[in-house]
Amino acid sequence: MIKKEVCIIGGGVIGLCSAYYMNKAGFEVTVVDRTEMTSGASYVNAGYITPSHIIPLASPGMPLKGLKFMFNPESPFYLKPRFERDLIRWSWEFLKNSTKKHVERCAPVLKQFNEKSRELYQTFIEQEKLDFSFSESGLLMLCQTEKMLHEKKEAGEFARKQGLKVDFLSQSEVKAFESEVIPDAVGAVYYQTDATIIPQNFMSQLKTRLKNNGVKILSKTSVQSIHFQNGKPTFLSTENGQLKFDALLIAAGSWSSEILKQTGIKLLLQAGKGYSFEIDNPGIKYPAILCEANTAVSPMGNKLRFGGTMELAGLNQSITKRRVRAIKAAAERYYPGIQINEAVLETAGTGLRPVSPDGMPYIGKLKQFENVYVATGHAMMGMSLGPATGLLVSEILQGKETFIETKLFNPNRFD
Ligand SMILES: Cc1cc2nc3c(=O)[nH]c(=O)nc-3n(C[C@H](O)[C@H](O)[C@H](O)COP(=O)(O)OP(=O)(O)OC[C@H]3O[C@@H](n4cnc5c(N)ncnc54)[C@H](O)[C@@H]3O)c2cc1C
Repeated sequence: MIKKEVCIIGGGVIGLCSAYYMNKAGFEVTVVDRTEMTSGASYVNAGYITPSHIIPLASPGMPLKGLKFMFNPESPFYLKPRFERDLIRWSWEFLKNSTKKHVERCAPVLKQFNEKSRELYQTFIEQEKLDFSFSESGLLMLCQTEKMLHEKKEAGEFARKQGLKVDFLSQSEVKAFESEVIPDAVGAVYYQTDATIIPQNFMSQLKTRLKNNGVKILSKTSVQSIHFQNGKPTFLSTENGQLKFDALLIAAGSWSSEILKQTGIKLLLQAGKGYSFEIDNPGIKYPAILCEANTAVSPMGNKLRFGGTMELAGLNQSITKRRVRAIKAAAERYYPGIQINEAVLETAGTGLRPVSPDGMPYIGKLKQFENVYVATGHAMMGMSLGPATGLLVSEILQGKETFIETKLFNPNRFD
């Protein structure tokens, strides 16, 4: 049997997980990434594995919240006003999809997809013997105002109806949760099913495993263009030469739409920039989201990672100090027992979340070509959904029945 050669553009969590399952299925896989593959969204993220995240970003109330945040330079959300046709179309679709009906349609799919991914992370531990500190400590949604607590409880009730295990905690119950660094909150919602990992450990170990399994990984190699023969995409040109393929997977995160533009395809995607930094863990045990500040707190070994902000400001990775400082301020407000040294802020890393306008990823074959596939648009859930996405991509490429209904992931849905 002649093995099918698959080329994957992008060595983030989506590209690597896809490579893993395709390699297992017998494809000859090459991953190409322009960086050293040690930085970016798949490395700096908060490491949450989130069955709790069943409400897509496009949901009722979000457009108004976004508008309000735009006028606060320290807010966790920022949309840089630009007169760009893509951004206008993206915003229009975001607005159109921010409905209750959309949430009800997406929630069961997101739940099933996240739960499958959580299960698959466990197979990486049990079968592949990878160690990335998978911790089943759940996720606390800490609220400092009654208004936010009410909103989060409503979301919690909705999650319960979808079958998730959710607890509602009073102020004193929140205080009892942590023994060393007591959070300052009026209450919290606790999602028992969530887990955390150390993302950079997962990424580096998976990379090694892939290489050992025969996957070619070409780092520091930028893809410049996609070439056609007789109307069919057949090879990539990179700064280091050409790469031939039978099938192509575009898993280039926020850059996926730029790559596709060359082929005349418009994928609605915005880059949602975020930041994170770490301190020595002063004793916080539970991962938490500081709800009013939209800031993530993640114990990672003896470190504690804080991450946040969602800046829709184009494809740039510059760091806005003011917003990093806002993450520090939020951390100190919710955990009065900790003080973060200003110098730590200089170590902040950044990453771009690939954000689709309806909050659902794009996974599948492009209808315009018989051999080009897309896997991107995971926004705040890429780390969580990496393994399930990889498995799904491999099933689609094999033409097998998929473990999940794929209609909501159709990459051509906004054509
Ligand atoms: C602060 C922060 C916190 C987050 N927290 C969480 C969390 O707790 N849980 C969660 O599930 N998700 C979280 N996320 C989101 C998650 O990190 C992303 O959804 C995920 O990493 C996206 O993965 P990706 O593989 O699609 O993209 P990326 O990781 O961006 O990878 C894409 C790759 O494509 C490469 N590439 C692009 N163009 C080219 C080209 N022309 N040639 C070659 N290579 C190219 C890039 O170099 C890059 O390495 C967070 C993100 C941020 C920023």
